[in-house]
Amino acid sequence: MTQTQYTPMIQQYLAIKAQVPDAFLFFRLGDFYELFFEDAISASRELEITLTGRGGGGDERIPMCGVPYHSADNYISRLIEKGFKVAICEQVEDPAAAKGVVRREIVRIVTPGTVMDGKTLGETSNNYIAAVSIADGRYGFSACDVSTGELYATSLHSSFQMLIDELNAYTPTEIIGQEELLEQVRKPLLQTAKSAVFTSWDRLGDDHLHAQFGVQAVEALDVSSRLAVSALLAYLLETQKQSLTHIKEIRAYSPQQFMTMDPFTRRNLELVETVRERSRKGSLLWLLDETVTAMGARMLKRWIEKPLMQAEAIRSRHDAVDILYNQIMLRDDLQSVLKEVYDLERLVARMAYGSANARDMVALRVSLEQVPRLKAVCADAGASVLEKLVEDMDPCSDIADWIRSTIEDEPPVSVRDGGMIREGCHDYLDQLREASTNGKRWIAELERSEREATGIRTLKVGYNRVFGYYIEVTKANVGALPEGRYERKQTLANAERFVTPELKEKEALILEAEDKRTDLEYELFVQLRERISDQTGRLQKLAEAIAELDVYQSLATVSASNRFTRPEISDGYDLLVEEGRHPVVEAVLDSGAFIENETKLTADDGSMLLITGPNMAGKSTYMRQVAVICLMAQIGCFVPARSAVVPIIDRIFTRIGAADDLIGGQSTFMVEMMDIQIMTEKATARSLVIIDELGRGTSTGEGMAIAQAVIEFLHHKIGCKTLVSTHFHELAHLEETLPQLRNYCMAVKESGQQVTFLRKLIRGAASTSYGIYCAEIAGLPDTIITRSYELLQTFETRAALGSGEETAAPSGEKAPVRAGIRLRSTPADKQQAEPEFTQGAEPHVIADMRPE
Ligand code: ADP
Repeated sequence: MTQTQYTPMIQQYLAIKAQVPDAFLFFRLGDFYELFFEDAISASRELEITLTGRGGGGDERIPMCGVPYHSADNYISRLIEKGFKVAICEQVEDPAAAKGVVRREIVRIVTPGTVMDGKTLGETSNNYIAAVSIADGRYGFSACDVSTGELYATSLHSSFQMLIDELNAYTPTEIIGQEELLEQVRKPLLQTAKSAVFTSWDRLGDDHLHAQFGVQAVEALDVSSRLAVSALLAYLLETQKQSLTHIKEIRAYSPQQFMTMDPFTRRNLELVETVRERSRKGSLLWLLDETVTAMGARMLKRWIEKPLMQAEAIRSRHDAVDILYNQIMLRDDLQSVLKEVYDLERLVARMAYGSANARDMVALRVSLEQVPRLKAVCADAGASVLEKLVEDMDPCSDIADWIRSTIEDEPPVSVRDGGMIREGCHDYLDQLREASTNGKRWIAELERSEREATGIRTLKVGYNRVFGYYIEVTKANVGALPEGRYERKQTLANAERFVTPELKEKEALILEAEDKRTDLEYELFVQLRERISDQTGRLQKLAEAIAELDVYQSLATVSASNRFTRPEISDGYDLLVEEGRHPVVEAVLDSGAFIENETKLTADDGSMLLITGPNMAGKSTYMRQVAVICLMAQIGCFVPARSAVVPIIDRIFTRIGAADDLIGGQSTFMVEMMDIQIMTEKATARSLVIIDELGRGTSTGEGMAIAQAVIEFLHHKIGCKTLVSTHFHELAHLEETLPQLRNYCMAVKESGQQVTFLRKLIRGAASTSYGIYCAEIAGLPDTIITRSYELLQTFETRAALGSGEETAAPSGEKAPVRAGIRLRSTPADKQQAEPEFTQGAEPHVIADMRPE
């Protein structure tokens, strides 16, 4: 069927829909937004609303569904949350004045990355849209939170992995860029990040860049990040269809300013969500978040995701935390003032966007009124960081004054119905108000005077929306009304309603005054809103300073209540922790149940720990604890330890089993190897590398060979601080040849049949895995347990005789089983059983250890 057969309205619909093929088109028809064709079919399913149809000129009825315009937000949010886009198409001329079909236009495209509506946005997280680009062999990256106006940009030299790391740090809900690059990004991201919507986009906003951000800021960008910013701006202008005055500043940064973490490390360390439930509860963010403002909560999350690299900047954060840590009164005062501060960032964005109402203005005023109090609380805190922070705060009291003098204390939600503007701030408005008040007073008097005039004691004066003001008289009394003056307006079952010429006149006056008044109020309100948005820059700066104060307060509160201590940030290599704890594991255990452990990773006396010990002994908790302590120090927090000297770590790599189940499709072993590959390529001497159960997932022989080779590589070639846990107790012999390697194990107490995990890290290598013991505790049948002990005995005997390599395992496993259960303690044994690698030589694999 050709399009021309459709009615003009459907043709208009189709023409508009063609502009937004990938979005649901909400097409305004009177009081409804209607969806047609395929959109209607899918939307009715997604939103569970009734699918109907209408004639449209063609042979078949057109599928249709609709939502009332006043509740559309709710439906739009639901679609956005499901990852869809929604284009909102309004009638842009008065239907009464329209010739033919009313003109309609898309006024805004809502996408997951550009939501402004508070309902869809989580308060405590930023909602980023990111743009990726490539130019001159560098990747460009830019991310923007439209709801707050923050925009970041960076350029990543040649490494695709860095781009993925960056995307993971921001977890955008939408990613735009050229199709080809998006395709490359899609796969690695889907494995790690929460699902983002990918929008292919190749238009640039170069013409607007300078006006939006200023020439200097734009020219300072390199080609690749400029491309990303430009594409992002073009996309935002296209979807928002209005000026974006609240997105003013490009926060350009270099990736070297922050600690690098790959996606798996972020997950493994459970920075902002747990690995298994992907919940905030149980994450580091959950523990550290005692912020009281939404802005503070979002900033804390950003800090955790981007630990600093400059010692001075870190120390200055520690200074601020230190003061608040030691002054509980100050902390309390600060908290109670901050509690009165609303989400300034988003309020300001709504002002600039033209979507703020009068209540938002009151919230802004109330927030601004707290600034002098904040200043007073912090003025004599005794920490130059805090003092400086509040000293530099512009209280924006002029803005608070404007609002205070103009806007009522408790205005209505709607901005179109009046009731927002204070008396006394606009003469004509006051006159209109007076007119309607006088009119209403006259009407209030009317009942009494009419009763007097007519002698009808039951006469009433009332109002309804359809008929306006009326005089009501019961049927029995109608006869008592004088002739002429009373005009019949409405007949009820046992009463009649009338109007008089005077009443009509007063009513007209009142209505006119009220109409004019609401229009004028709206006008004054919009003027004020625009005046405030001209001050966006000042307000955003203030919001940021308040957020920072809140984050310090939060870190100090948590540090104090969890017995954290201030770490010494050193410019050297060594990491020294006394009585360290894992903060989150500790927090969920009974108080006092967590066992502290030392950490000593030094340039001269061992930078590599090889940790052995049975399952559940606490190896992985310990290793994570070391990483988390370094990370906490670098975000500016105190650390869970009695004392800590922490050097600046440029990257943390973790290879920890728990993330395994997250990756569909790839074998655990393959994933491990890929992680290790990245590690070997990117780690530097300033990195911290953590590998849990290195070399599992393949045959014992191969696993052990790879483990040893990797350890040697990190030891000889990189020199990074390294923690490796392994089941291969045989690897303990490496201590003899690798000068920086130290054997550690988790202490276990055996008494009779009982084995107790002491969770204490001690020097030396574990002598047994207690694997069979664990199986026993888990309740495996006695026959299996007994048989296992028997077999163990056999294997050990064979191993001791040096024959272990040649014998096939009884399980039918292809690779020969090396006696990986008990550690041989004499060097002679090791000579026989271990492939001996000489230091610095290429690691080799003994031929008969390979699977057949
Ligand atoms: P492994 O990696 O050796 O298998 P985990 O590190 O997973 O062991 O620890 C197992 C459990 O032991 C953890 O879930 C935790 O509850 C407990 N645990 C670990 N370390 C400690 C500790 N230092 N103090 C108290 N409990 C601990």
